Amino acid sequence: SVRVRFAPSPTGPLHIGGARSALFNWLFARHHGGQFLVRIEDTDLERSSRESEENILNALRWLGIDWDEGIEVGGPNGPYRQTERLAIYRELARKLLETGHAYYCYCTEEELAAEREALMARGELPRYLGRCRNLCDEEKAKLEAEGRKPVLRFRVPEDQIITIQDRVRGLVEFDSNGIGDFIIMKSDNIPTYNFAVVVDDHDMNITHVIRAEEHLSNTPRQILIYDALGWQKPEFAHISLILGKDRTKMSKRHGATSIEQYQNLGYLPEALVNFLALLGWSPGGEQEIFSLQEIVEQFSLERVAKNPAVFDIDKLNWLNGHYIRQSPVDRLTRLAIPYLIDAGYLDKEPDAEKLAWLEQVVAIARNYISYMQEITRHVDIFFQDRVTVVEEDARDVLTWEQMPVVMKAAVQLFSEAPELTEESVKGLIKAIGKQTGLKGKFIFQPLRVAITGRTHGPELHQIIPVIGKERTIARLSAVLK
Ligand code: GLU
Repeated sequence: SVRVRFAPSPTGPLHIGGARSALFNWLFARHHGGQFLVRIEDTDLERSSRESEENILNALRWLGIDWDEGIEVGGPNGPYRQTERLAIYRELARKLLETGHAYYCYCTEEELAAEREALMARGELPRYLGRCRNLCDEEKAKLEAEGRKPVLRFRVPEDQIITIQDRVRGLVEFDSNGIGDFIIMKSDNIPTYNFAVVVDDHDMNITHVIRAEEHLSNTPRQILIYDALGWQKPEFAHISLILGKDRTKMSKRHGATSIEQYQNLGYLPEALVNFLALLGWSPGGEQEIFSLQEIVEQFSLERVAKNPAVFDIDKLNWLNGHYIRQSPVDRLTRLAIPYLIDAGYLDKEPDAEKLAWLEQVVAIARNYISYMQEITRHVDIFFQDRVTVVEEDARDVLTWEQMPVVMKAAVQLFSEAPELTEESVKGLIKAIGKQTGLKGKFIFQPLRVAITGRTHGPELHQIIPVIGKERTIARLSAVLK
């Protein structure tokens, strides 16, 4: 049965691209009723940290991507952190050395750099040409006596065409002569990515390796290792790059790149998952909004595009806005509170009464936002004591000659009203019309500007009950002075 994995290197937070890889693996597993594993590839000792590992795992959990086996949850093929599996790699490295598939290389950084430069000067691909391939014991002893610490290199066979039947890219071929003997164990006895990944994918019975296209050029190296160890290879699927709208590789210039940043801005995980699923996959047709269940049902590698996916923040914002308007108000209010506290609208967690009122505010303001942090830009009318009129158009409305008549009628009718509800406010506005003989914008605009300071915004009958009777009347009276 299907077994797939996400194998992040914990060298930073979980990025959009990594999250997309994780999601595609997860979707593939769930679609096929298979298993999804998460393992940590932390062999880059300098750049790896537990903090990044935590960030990545938390981001996966927040997105709703759960795993059946692996780090933290355990399983029969552990440990699931590469630095805890060193004995396994060392044992297999010895085996490759003994069978002649690997050899010690004593070249220094300077020697390698000189070789690379010489090759590039001749217009050739920089690669290791095998200087240490056939050292005799004496030569080795001499180099070791110089204090050189060897790395272990894989002996790449000559004149071989290595083929990959990639599930996304189709047939891909590599000429082994272009590869060069590559390092599998570093001089500190730590395996390289290309070696450890093969050992782990084999040990963990991975059936499909679904990962970013940037790893495609690593795949022939990994295939050679599978072959040398006599192991069966998984299937490979390399999913395309993610580009910014300007068609250059997605980077910080294009906006937030880590999942955590989106979480902190108040994006909803289900919106982000919907968006990530469409970064390179589409079931065909025009549909853009998919429930997780629908995506799981329809997901297939055949419908993953070969060409690059374009990260369109406007589409994410549109999707997220859609999910915000579908979400229960109590959930959104909980999400909104930290932003409202930050913006100074609240000084602490609200009590039950305030919470009920906040829910009414959020129910209105959510119609104007793409992500929750934006809510702070749409709530001032509910919180402020005094309305300041900044817009020129709005100030102009207050100079209309009918304005005082409307305001006086409104103050009187609102004061007499027993309570303000959407329905009663609709009735009151009609009554103002009757009493003044005015219609349409001559009533609505002065009221709106007096109450909100602006010429545009949510319906008056929605906001007035939330602003409340006392404050509404105070604002109406204020413009008469
Ligand atoms: N640790 C690698 C990465 O984060 C995993 C690549 C793979 O899936 O093989 O890019």
